[in-house]
Amino acid sequence: MELKKEKFIASLLGGAIGDALGYVVEFLQLEDIKSKFGKNGITDLVINIQKGKALISDDTQMTLFTADGLMWAYHRTSQRGIGSYAGSGTYQSYLRWYYTQTKKMPTKNEMIWLTKQSHEEKTSILDYHDLFSNRAPGNTCLEALRSGEMGTIEQPLNYSKGCGGVMRVAPVGLFLHKEPQYAFKIGAELATITHGHPTGYLSAGVFAMIIAEIINGKTILESVKTAIGVLKTYSNHEETISALELAIDLSNKDLKPEIAISYLGEGWIAEEALAISIYCALIESDFKKSLAISVNHSGDSDSTGSICGNILGAYYGLDVIPLEWIEQIELKELIMNMGNRLYNMLNT
Ligand SMILES: [Mg+2]
Repeated sequence: MELKKEKFIASLLGGAIGDALGYVVEFLQLEDIKSKFGKNGITDLVINIQKGKALISDDTQMTLFTADGLMWAYHRTSQRGIGSYAGSGTYQSYLRWYYTQTKKMPTKNEMIWLTKQSHEEKTSILDYHDLFSNRAPGNTCLEALRSGEMGTIEQPLNYSKGCGGVMRVAPVGLFLHKEPQYAFKIGAELATITHGHPTGYLSAGVFAMIIAEIINGKTILESVKTAIGVLKTYSNHEETISALELAIDLSNKDLKPEIAISYLGEGWIAEEALAISIYCALIESDFKKSLAISVNHSGDSDSTGSICGNILGAYYGLDVIPLEWIEQIELKELIMNMGNRLYNMLNT
């Protein structure tokens, strides 16, 4: 397989695996995780008995809808010669996600987005019924989409910097990797559809750009530093920069990871989720160990696992992901298919 295509797929699979690993312990304190899974915490996927798979959560669901939305917007904009990634597909695809969670659309008019669209070849993302499962969907995302309005940087819907904006934008970095600064801008715009605080959407811009730079061959640290450089050109960047610089700083210290992570926060908010994920990707190059560190803390384990997994997959590729984990992950086929299609749309 072409190396870049493999990395697209590995980034999405890595994110889904980190998400699944963390979802089991999302609402547990570190001491409870240890008493349940042993002194090293959770280190392996937990198989859900009904589904026979390791369950993904809203982080992966929304990542998949971001991928769907980007392809939708790309296709529509190429046909019409006008449009935007946010307004010509991704917002509509997030409404599709909203429908999977609530069986409703903000008004009847939006029901049209549930029909198969021109960017969808044989199957639609909505043909995958397992995507309709409720996995602790974020309230900010649900509320924002329920409003029937699309949030933008100029007209935000709220002042939230929850990590729901950042955790879903890895596909932006993959799809727009040839233009990393543009990936930053689009990552931020897609996050503001639901999250209006500058730190909420700037963290998403940084994350999308890091993924893009990794795909272009930079190291993880170089990618983070390059994205920080671009972040500085946006207003209201201070909080995000502090979190990222602390992550780099801590990665150079000989500290127990669980202590270092406690300095970075809990990950419920965007800059903390991103900083924890980057710290874990920087200090450990073993895929399994790095992901385990990223979820064993008292905060938003599935989001930090998901972001960290997206980074590790994009950097190390498919070879480092244990085959049994790939086999165990829920919606494996759709996840791999989305990576393939994102790549193919750019290269055909
Ligand atoms: Mg989740």
